[in-house]
Amino acid sequence: MKTVAIVGRPNVGKSALFNRLAGLNISIVHDLAGVTRDRITAECRRGPQVFQIMDTGGIGANTEDILTEQVQVEASIALDVADLLLFVVDVFEGVSPIDQTLATIMRRTRKPVILVCNKADSEKRRLGSGEFSRLGFEDIAEVSAVHGFGIDPLVDMISEKLELREISEEEENEVQEQRRNRPLKLAIIGRPNAGKSSLVNAILGQERAIVSEVAGTTRDSLDIHCTFNGKQYQLIDTAGIRRQAKVDTDVEIFSIQRSYQAIKRADICLLVVDCAEGAKMQDRKIAQLILEEKKPCILVMNKFDLFHPTAKQKDRLDELKEMMGREFFFLTYAPLVATSAKEKDNIGKLFVQIEAVRKGVQTRIGTGVLNRLLHEAIENTPGPLGRSRYAFKLLYVTQVGDTDEYAQVPVPHFVMFANRATKMTESYLRFLESVIRTEWPAPGVPFRMSVRGKD
Ligand code: GDP
Repeated sequence: MKTVAIVGRPNVGKSALFNRLAGLNISIVHDLAGVTRDRITAECRRGPQVFQIMDTGGIGANTEDILTEQVQVEASIALDVADLLLFVVDVFEGVSPIDQTLATIMRRTRKPVILVCNKADSEKRRLGSGEFSRLGFEDIAEVSAVHGFGIDPLVDMISEKLELREISEEEENEVQEQRRNRPLKLAIIGRPNAGKSSLVNAILGQERAIVSEVAGTTRDSLDIHCTFNGKQYQLIDTAGIRRQAKVDTDVEIFSIQRSYQAIKRADICLLVVDCAEGAKMQDRKIAQLILEEKKPCILVMNKFDLFHPTAKQKDRLDELKEMMGREFFFLTYAPLVATSAKEKDNIGKLFVQIEAVRKGVQTRIGTGVLNRLLHEAIENTPGPLGRSRYAFKLLYVTQVGDTDEYAQVPVPHFVMFANRATKMTESYLRFLESVIRTEWPAPGVPFRMSVRGKD
């Protein structure tokens, strides 16, 4: 899916614009203790085709020094990944020095930019937008995010820039067919020294693995085609290329950026964690990117040979599961496989799990079963407003096909049509997701949940 990043200094109305574009489609935001949540993404379905919008709350958060390290990480990820940038400015306040700095940064990305003059609430204010032409951007939209003025023309402009268009059923079938015939893309990600290269070597070194070809190298990863147990895979190897880095933070910035690119392209993410060292902040950050991108995921607990090596096997596994359940509590859907890349241990098991995830994604839950399940759950365990007439009322739920240009198989997306749709809360949505999982556990497969309907 194409990604549009919303960029701008504080208080220009980025969040308001984000909410306007997202409508009811804001993705479920999990409570993530210890994980920064500077980037929020959502789907915008206002145009002929869906695109993803990304709020970069981080940029310019500190007006004194707009390029502090943390901000730089967040901003560079957003700028790097986005296909189009919405540069938001405030017509009321006029051009500020930070706007000028941001304009330079954005031009350097060489990505298409639409200058969005926000707070154009009145005719008089709209006249103020002329001043912004000196920032040098050709495409200028005037909007009032709060009042909804100018949003449709902006969406049209975005669609045009991204060359989004409605695709015919025939084209859609063709795309699906191509997807099915493609090897499954496995992104091998994790922080430095987790054992990614060793894992790739262990996979390629197995007797049953046949490496047929090393495909084109991208800037951020190496793609390796291989066959394992007669099935084709494409490994997206982020360890394959090591950048020269001056300081440690650079290593981290690059490795997170690289991970993000790989995650976006993957069908299944293999998050490699050094379980002897335990999960670290960076592991959780990468896990959060996987969650935000709604990608199927397996937690590869590597260096298991070093994890309490003298204890009994069952105790070791139990302890590992308990510990990682705690560390990655927000990534509940991801199953765990303990490996030792160095000893080439459990590589076969990993592929059994990969195939189980593939099967999980391809299965569908029947609409009848789905509706019965959720209606029953809501009847037995009503939401926050109980059974009152102000409460969320489910009319109908259905699973829709999603358009993820990268994924071989789109992840399940459940859309609930409802009255008083805005009364749905995040935790209740998560509860309903867990209800669906009782019927259809689908380990490793994330679910998208959304609500549509009148207030
Ligand atoms: P990468 O940076 O994630 O690609 O990590 P590497 O594959 O280069 O591994 C980092 C270090 O950990 C190397 O010294 C490996 O030999 C070691 N290593 C990798 N996997 C294992 C494992 O399963 N067990 C043990 N004991 N060491 C491992």
